[in-house]
Amino acid sequence: MKKRNGGQILFKLLVLCSVSFMLLFVQACSSQQANQSTSTKESKDEAKVEERNESNQQNAKPKKEEKLNEEDSKDLRDNDDTIEPQYEISPETSLVKPLKEGINEKVVLLTIDDAPDQYALEMAKHLKDLDVKAIFFVNGHFLRSDEEKEILKKIHSMGFPIGNHTMTHQNLNDLTKEQQRKEIIQLNQLIKEVTGEKPRFFRAPFGENTETSKKIIEEEQMIAMNWTYGYDWESEYQNKEALTKIMVDSPFLTNGANLLMHDRVWTRDALPDIVKGLQNKGYTIVDPALIKGL
Ligand SMILES: [Zn+2]
Repeated sequence: MKKRNGGQILFKLLVLCSVSFMLLFVQACSSQQANQSTSTKESKDEAKVEERNESNQQNAKPKKEEKLNEEDSKDLRDNDDTIEPQYEISPETSLVKPLKEGINEKVVLLTIDDAPDQYALEMAKHLKDLDVKAIFFVNGHFLRSDEEKEILKKIHSMGFPIGNHTMTHQNLNDLTKEQQRKEIIQLNQLIKEVTGEKPRFFRAPFGENTETSKKIIEEEQMIAMNWTYGYDWESEYQNKEALTKIMVDSPFLTNGANLLMHDRVWTRDALPDIVKGLQNKGYTIVDPALIKGL
């Protein structure tokens, strides 16, 4: 009996043990599963977070780049307009005047009119070699062929501003309002077409401005100017030596002088010595980019 009882107890114990073991096992398994699923969930969540972060970063990156690009282009714009204006053209005298005190007043402006006829490109090369700038005032009648347009494009790409000197170089006083408008606007369009840039400067043929032309120039936001001296159209100065001497020793050479020259062979030949002569006298050839716009 004792034995049977003992056997029964042992059996019960075994059953209990195995049940408990099974329970434990099931519990352990389920908790592991739970852990697994939790960790899976977590890792999924993490992945999601990462994804989100990445996508945020991806979203953020382009924003950052956009911002940088904006800043870059702002910088470029700043560089374009870099050039904080330092001078203005006097509407009365066409002299180059500093905008405020402390700016070098001992400057002269070089301008080359009636271009690009035959020598403008060589003149531009001379000036570039000397590292100085000039405004090339061009006419539409020199911009008919592709070859002529190509020359203008080259001069512009060398860093020289292109000014408007009208389509056909007529005295604006002899033209109707409509004709004057065409003379100016059509050339602006042509220059923009060839160089990609609209002219900032205007010079009337023979220095003859009219009320109509003044109005158009203002509408077009151009700076009008005549000049203060020039000699290369007078027969006695149509050679290199005479022209160099008078351009450098002219009684009209003053601070801010606005020098008129043309696309002519003797002017091309004299140009380097004119520049050096002016510089030797202490004048700086002003960069037209420093001249204030409208
Ligand atoms: Zn002219």
